[in-house]
This record gives sequence, structure tokens and C-alpha cells, in this order.
Amino acid sequence: MKQVRTRIAPSPTGEDLHIGNAYTALINYVFAKKHHGKFLVRIEDTDRTRLVEGSEQNILSSLHWLGFDPDESPEKGGPYSPYRQSERLKIYKEYAQELVENGHAYHCFCTPERLAQMRKDQEASHLPPMYDGTCRKLKTQSSKLKVEKGERYTIRLKVPKQGTSTFRDIIRGDISFENKLIDDQVLLKSDGYPTYHLGVVVDDHLMEISHIIRGEEWISSTPKHVLLYQFLGWTPPVFAHMPLLRNPDKSKLSKRKNPVWVSWYRREGFLPEAVRNYLATMAWSFPKGKELFSTEEMVKVFDVAHIQATAPVFDIEKLKWMNGEYIRMKTDEELISILDVYMLQNNLKSLNKQTAVTKISDYKMQMKKILPLVKERMKTLKEFESLAGFFFERPKELERPVNNILLGVAEQALKGSEWNHDAMEQAIRAAAEKTNAKAKDVFMELRVAVTGKSVGPPLLESLEILGREETIARLSSI
Ligand code: GLU
Repeated sequence: MKQVRTRIAPSPTGEDLHIGNAYTALINYVFAKKHHGKFLVRIEDTDRTRLVEGSEQNILSSLHWLGFDPDESPEKGGPYSPYRQSERLKIYKEYAQELVENGHAYHCFCTPERLAQMRKDQEASHLPPMYDGTCRKLKTQSSKLKVEKGERYTIRLKVPKQGTSTFRDIIRGDISFENKLIDDQVLLKSDGYPTYHLGVVVDDHLMEISHIIRGEEWISSTPKHVLLYQFLGWTPPVFAHMPLLRNPDKSKLSKRKNPVWVSWYRREGFLPEAVRNYLATMAWSFPKGKELFSTEEMVKVFDVAHIQATAPVFDIEKLKWMNGEYIRMKTDEELISILDVYMLQNNLKSLNKQTAVTKISDYKMQMKKILPLVKERMKTLKEFESLAGFFFERPKELERPVNNILLGVAEQALKGSEWNHDAMEQAIRAAAEKTNAKAKDVFMELRVAVTGKSVGPPLLESLEILGREETIARLSSI
């Protein structure tokens, strides 16, 4: 077998890497690793009207965060440079020209206004929106003259009127389209940029891509690509079209129902290994139903033909659960360094050492004590803030007003108690009994007063860490 070379070819037209593209990246990455091949990233930035500033940078940085470092990319370079389509315009133009010369493409001089009118008319008469072939009929000679005169043109694919175009998809089997239903696709635009179709075919061929693994939304484009391979005398790569991720209601994953940008998951405190693991379970299962596995383990057993074509549901609650499991797989030491970086990157002030109001002289030691109290409950890194923020900063406000009488009982008991779990518990229970209050209620008021919230880590252990002085100061300030 030829060397396996896979790629993702994102367009920098969104904020960042779409989670669906992260899914495709995972499969391409794993497939390449499995076959000791190469995984590359090509930036398809030929739609100049849709470019988003900073998008390419964000895409590459999200891929890096996910751990899908490409062997070749615009940043890294490689033997098939450049990997950014806007830097390869000359190449596309040459192939478009070649197609015209071989009679498989033609110049089209129709103005945008004429095309808009044509589409309107087609819509009115319920016809499919397809180019009507006006310029296809022009004689070569008159086309040449128009080009020489400097008329603006595009180059269109001359799709045969008869026959079918077929390709094999390793997930879905043979897929055929009747040629008469395929539009005479524009290949080269009047601004000199290729369309997606020309760019993708030329580059996948020149970059020696062996397997094209991409989302199913590209299936209807593939027959056009197959024709191009044929007309240029090239052998097409192997195709695999992945099912699209769905919202739990089965609709296409969309911004309105689910966060779609990888940077959101990063900011929210998901671990890249959990995101990778969860994405891997979309439409594919690890042998024997194993749920938690690393990308390296996946590489060993993965077979792209085992991907199911049915729509996988991307359920963020399930991802959160999995993320929690990954958090608990870390040692406390590891998690402390991860949290350190996370808090710094996300500028979580309440957890920032410099702004801590508690008398924390040794932040690291303090973290070591706090972590075991909250680790069990954390599903994301961000949740550390809501669970443990009170250790570092006095709560700005309480979740609800507290009962001052019960709080007074707690305060008195604590003032006279030694500062350890058992002594504090005994003192509070005894004081509650004396005043005919329920110990449970006293503990609850104490919790709300000190932490600001009615749920959180174990209370007395928390007070031990917080210390007598800070605890009493919080109680007296209410
Ligand atoms: N530029 C296309 C995209 O935005 C690439 C599709 C493909 O993989 O062929 O996803």
C-alpha cells in the first residue's frame, strides 16, 4: 500500500475549529497513526468574502490543544508547501487552463446579474438551480477573443450530459450520481481564486493524499471531484464520509443548541483527552464496549470501516461526565498544575494567588489540602472556581439571607472549640442541643455564611483549612 496520507482542510471562515471538524481531525489523525502515515492540515482560504480575521490561528491552536499536531501544515511547512491555498493560485490556474484545452472546461462570461436573473426564473418555474449552459455553446475561437479583449470570465466544468459518476465510500459503499443532475460547476472564479472543488482536487492530488476522510456534507460534491480526477488523468484517493454530529434532538449540531467552537470547551475547563475520548465514541465503539480509552489505545484497534453511517448524538452532559472521570484519573499534583495553567489562561481572579484575601502563605500546600475535598465533585476545571472559590476570597454575597440566631449558636461554639474536625463537630452539636436547635440547621447556616452557598465541599474539613481567624472573621462580618 502507498504511504497513508490524510488531511483536514478547514476554511478559516468561523471563529475557530468547529467541534465537528475536531471530530473529523481525530479520525484522520488516528487513521494516519494507525498506518504509520502522515496527517496534514491545509488551510482552504479561497472564499475571500467569508474570511474571518484570526480564524486560521485559532484553528491551528485548537488542533494543538487537542493534541492533533500535524506532520505538515502552514505553520510547520513540509515537502508539499505551501499549505495555504491562497498561496497556490498559479497552480490552480494552470490546471483550469489544462481542462479548457482538453475540452473538459470552458470560459463563462455571464455576469453576476445575468446569473441572478437566471436563478430567479428557474425558481419561478420550479426548476433546479443549475447553470443553463449559455457559454458552453460558445465556439472556442470566440471565447478566446473575449478573453483577449479582457472580458471578465470564470471557468466552468463541462459535465457530460449522459452517464453516471460513481465512487466508492468505505463507510457507505458505492455512491452514484447521474451526470445530468450535476451542475457545470465554476472551477476558477473571476478573481483568479479557485472554488473549493478545483482547489481540493488539485491539492489532494499534488499532496498525495491517500484517503479523504471528511464530513458527509461533502458527498454531493464528490461526483464533481471524481469527474475532475478523471479529466486530469489522476487516480482518486479513497473516500470516507463521516456522519455529522447531531444535537440530542437529532438536528444538525448548531450554535443555537450546543456550543460548537473548540475554544469554548477549552475555556469551560474540559480536558483535551476527555474531548478526544468522547469524540471517538461518536459513531464508533471500542471493542468490548470499553468507554474510557486513550487516543493511543484507539490507534491500536481502530478501523475506519467500522464507523457507523447513522447520526451520532453529541451530548454535552455525557461529555461532562467523561471529563469528570478524566479529572479524577489525575493525581492531585497533576491536577494542581493543570488548574494553575487553566486559571492563569482564563484569568480567574478569584483563584489567583495575588488577589487571595485569606492568609495563604503557601498556595501550593493549600491547594493540596483543598483538592481532595472538591475533586470528587468536579466535572470541569471551571467548576473548581464555584466549588472552592470561597477558600481564596470571601463570598461577595450569600446565596440567601442567613438565620442570625442559628449562626450565633455556631459562632459561639466555634469560638470555644479546638480547631479540628471532631472538636468542632462536638461543640456545635452540644450547642445546638442546648438551644433546642437542630444541629443540621446550624451546620447549614454556618455553611452558607462561610462559603456563600448551600452546597459545596465537606464543611468542617473546609473550616479546618480556612482556619479559625478567617472563619470567625467571616461570621462576625455578617
Ligand atoms: N474546506 C472544506 C471545509 O471547510 C474542506 C472539505 C473537505 O475536507 O474536502 O471543510
